Amino acid sequence: MTNKKKSLNPETLTAQAMGWLDPAHKSLIPGIFPGTTFEREADGSYAAGRVYTRDHNPGYDQPEELLRHLEGGSEALLFSSGMSAALAVVQALRPGDHLIAPEVMYWSFRNWLLTVGREWGLEVSFVPNGDLEALSAAVIPGRTKLLWLETPANPTWVVDDIAAWAAVAKDAGAHLAVDNTVATPLLTNPLKLGADIVMHSATKYLNGHSDVLAGALVTAADDAFWARVKVNRSAGGAIPGPFEAWLLLRGMRTLHLRVARASDSALAIAQHFEGRAGIRAVLYPGLASHAGHDIATRQMNGGFGGMLSLCIEGGETAAMAVAARLQLIKRATSLGGVESLVEHRASIEGAGTPCPEDLLRLSIGIENVEDLIRDIDQALDGRNS
Ligand code: PLP
Repeated sequence: MTNKKKSLNPETLTAQAMGWLDPAHKSLIPGIFPGTTFEREADGSYAAGRVYTRDHNPGYDQPEELLRHLEGGSEALLFSSGMSAALAVVQALRPGDHLIAPEVMYWSFRNWLLTVGREWGLEVSFVPNGDLEALSAAVIPGRTKLLWLETPANPTWVVDDIAAWAAVAKDAGAHLAVDNTVATPLLTNPLKLGADIVMHSATKYLNGHSDVLAGALVTAADDAFWARVKVNRSAGGAIPGPFEAWLLLRGMRTLHLRVARASDSALAIAQHFEGRAGIRAVLYPGLASHAGHDIATRQMNGGFGGMLSLCIEGGETAAMAVAARLQLIKRATSLGGVESLVEHRASIEGAGTPCPEDLLRLSIGIENVEDLIRDIDQALDGRNS
């Protein structure tokens, strides 16, 4: 990295994807590398440093380098999905190791920890989000090896103090991994707050167009734990295809515009609907009424993200009816795309979910915010506009 690049702002780095040129053709846009194997020299060496695509596809270099810069880490790795990135971290633990995670977090990963993770011999404790005393009390000296944090946490957007979690991890001699999918590297940089590893579902904001499944990890240090994570990727082969990596980089170039727009609109929507008839609660870290607002104000720079939830008076039936009446906002899972989505999370997550039954999760896209507000208003009113 040149000193010049060091001083550039994240918006500039993302817009130009680090400013790399394809060395063979001087193209501003990289090629796609479908090749799976690379020639070995007569002396047995690999002149280009690449052996096999499972961990050496040239199309990963640029998105990994951009993400490494944005998060301020020492190395970044792409994965085939956010889940495969998360699993590469927990599977670097050993049977009998203890892991602590928050009660509210991405449901599928929580489920994996509760089922397969425990069957594989991991001891897993869940602590209430935002409760640092419970976190400290959950540490098992000598056995707690990983703290997993997601903030703002899906789907209630509870905010946890990353620096405080990092201090507990350090005292315990454990690593702290943070799922930064929702905040994105533009709003929060967990490594700068003391985390060891950052994880992204790159399927969401990093790509931003609901057309790529991908994940990523960024590490602060190239330590022994990271070496085990890397083995999980290169041996397991949970990597994106060459076209997916290319699409991901293209999406990342507009990350700052999309995130800024979604954050502004989400705040406007949260403010508009807070206290409105028919709404029991608006959950959004940008509202002063939100339990994690003070931490979010300290920890998030330039916005509170594009995710919010509306709790609808009348419970599950009323919430489902409001979702059914939306005309513009699409009923679909996932988040972080340019189009706005709504989801009734409790019915997706099923039995045992900590998600309130009256909660509708909204992923705010980049549409005109007045159009979005009008759509939600008419759905709440129960009439067609
Ligand atoms: N983390 C969060 C916060 C998510 O919302 C998701 C997916 O919805 C994941 C991780 C998993 O990512 P992927 O679907 O790319 O495997």
